Amino acid sequence: MEKVIIIGAGTAGLSSAIRLQTLGFQVEIYEKNDRVGGRMFQLKDKGFTFDYGPTITMLPEEYKDVFRASGADPDDYLEMTALDPLYKLYFRDGTSFQVSSNLNKLMKELENFGEEEAYGYLSYLSDVYGRYIIAKKHFLDVSYRRKRDFFNLKTPYHGYRLKTLNNAYDSISKFVKNEKLRQALSFQTLYVGVSPFQGPSIYTIIPMIELLYGIHYIKGGMYQMAAAMEKRFLELGGKIHLNQSVDEIMIKDQIAHGVRIKDDIKEADIILTNADFPWAVENLIKERKNRGKYKDKKLKRMTYSSSVFIMYMGLDKKYPTDIHSLRFAADFKRNINDLFESVIPEDPSFYLYSPSQIDESVAPKGKEILYVLVPVPNTQDKHVNWDETQVTHYQSKILSMIEQIPTFHDIREHIEVMHVSTPNTWEEKFNLNHGGTFGLRPTLSQSLYFRPQATLKPLKNVYFTGSSTHPGPGVPIVLKSAKLAVNEILKDHPHE
Ligand SMILES: Cc1cc2nc3c(=O)[nH]c(=O)nc-3n(C[C@H](O)[C@H](O)[C@H](O)COP(=O)(O)OP(=O)(O)OC[C@H]3O[C@@H](n4cnc5c(N)ncnc54)[C@H](O)[C@@H]3O)c2cc1C
Repeated sequence: MEKVIIIGAGTAGLSSAIRLQTLGFQVEIYEKNDRVGGRMFQLKDKGFTFDYGPTITMLPEEYKDVFRASGADPDDYLEMTALDPLYKLYFRDGTSFQVSSNLNKLMKELENFGEEEAYGYLSYLSDVYGRYIIAKKHFLDVSYRRKRDFFNLKTPYHGYRLKTLNNAYDSISKFVKNEKLRQALSFQTLYVGVSPFQGPSIYTIIPMIELLYGIHYIKGGMYQMAAAMEKRFLELGGKIHLNQSVDEIMIKDQIAHGVRIKDDIKEADIILTNADFPWAVENLIKERKNRGKYKDKKLKRMTYSSSVFIMYMGLDKKYPTDIHSLRFAADFKRNINDLFESVIPEDPSFYLYSPSQIDESVAPKGKEILYVLVPVPNTQDKHVNWDETQVTHYQSKILSMIEQIPTFHDIREHIEVMHVSTPNTWEEKFNLNHGGTFGLRPTLSQSLYFRPQATLKPLKNVYFTGSSTHPGPGVPIVLKSAKLAVNEILKDHPHE
C-alpha cells in the first residue's frame, strides 16, 4: 500500500486525505496547529464558539461531494440550512439593500432602483451564468501539468468567450448604472483578496453563485465542515498528527522519500503539501534546483491577496441583527485602492457576522456573537505594521464605527469576550506569506496555467493543493483544487 504524507490539515489537506484514503492509499497528515481546519479554524472562550476565518458557505454541493466520494451520506456529517435573506448591504447615506435568493423578494428590492436597473441586474445574472459554465468546464476543473494543456488552439477561443480581460467593476458597470448596485455586485472580489477595480472580471461570478446556489449555514459554524472531514478521515483509517510542524521535504534525485520534523524523518512514497504554496516552496524545499520554475526572483515577484483585521466579540446580551451584513465605506473606491496601495483604511468597509441569531449552540443563552471583519492590506510592503499600538487604535476605531449603528450603540458595555486577528496572526499561525489571507492574489498573471499547479517539475512525487494553487481561493474552489491534486496523483500512481 503506498503511503502518502499530507503537510497540513486545512480544507484541501483534509478533503484530499479523505479521497486518497478511500482510493486505498495509506494517508497520514502532519499539522502544525493544535486542531485541524487551517484557516477554517475555531476559537472557543467562555461558552462562545467563534468561526475564525471563513463564514459564508457557497456551492454546498462541493462540500457534500467530499463525503459522497468516500461512500458516506453528507447529511450524516453536516446540517446545512439555506439562508434567506442571504445578507444585507448598508450604505453610508442610511439606505440598504437586502439580497434575497427568493426572486419575488429580490425583484421588489431591485425595482426600488428602477426597472432599467432591475433589467440590467437580471441581464448580468444571465451573462455571468453563461461564463461560469465555460469557466467550470474549460478552466476550473482542469489541471495544467504541461504547457500544451494551456497553450493550445482551444484556450484563446474559450478565453474569449469567458470575457475576463476587463476588471469586475467595469464588467458590472455595463449592466447596471446605479453606483450602489455596482458596489453590491463587485465587493465580492474581496472574498478572494483582489480589487474589483483590477482583478479579472471572472470574479463577478461570485455574486451570481450566491444568488443562484444560495448561501448556507452549517449548524455549529463553518468549523463543523473541518470537524466532519476529520471524523470521516479517521473513520476511514487515516492518521492525523497535530502540533507537528514539518521543516523539510526530504528529496533525493528529484524524488521525495519523506518529511523532516526537527530531527525526525517520516518516510512516505508520496508527499502532498497543503501548506500555502509560496511558503512551502521557499521553506520546505531546501535545494533551489528542486523548486523548478519558482526561482528566488519569481518567488519575490509574486503578489499576495489582501488581508483582514477581525474582532471576535462575545456579547453578554442579545442584539437582534442580520446573520451576514456589510457596511460600505463612504468612498468605496478609495477604500479599495487603500487595500492594494498598502494603506490601512481610515474609513473602511466592514463585514458583520452573527451566527448566534440562528444557532443557539455557538453562544451561551441570552448572549450573542459578533464577528467583525475589516479588509486591510497585506504586509508585503513593510511599512504596514500591526504592533500593539496599531491594534489598539484600530480596534477602538472600528468599535466607534459599530457604535454608530443604532442597534449596537451600547456595545462597549456588553463585550464579555474579545479576540482579534491581524495580518501577523494569519502569517504566524498558518504560514501565509505577508498575512495575505487568501494566498497568492488571483490576478490574470497568477491564474490558470500561471498559478502554481498540483505538480511541480522536476519533482516526481511531490504534489500541491490549496488556495495558492489552481483554481484558487475560497472553500469550494479549494475543494476543487484537492480533487485536481488527487487526480494528478492517480495519473502517476494508478489505483482501482
Ligand atoms: C478571514 C477569512 C475569511 C474567509 N471567508 C471565507 C468564506 O466566507 N467562504 C469561503 O468559501 N472562503 C473563505 N475564506 C477562504 C478559505 O478560508 C480558504 O480559501 C481555505 O480555508 C483555505 O484552505 P487551504 O486548505 O488552502 O489552506 P489552509 O486552511 O491554510 O490549510 C493549510 C494548513 O497547512 C498547515 N501548515 C502550514 N505549514 C505547515 C507546516 N510546515 N507543517 C504542518 N502544517 C502546516 C496550516 O496550519 C493549515 O492548517 C476565508 C479566509 C479567511 C482567512
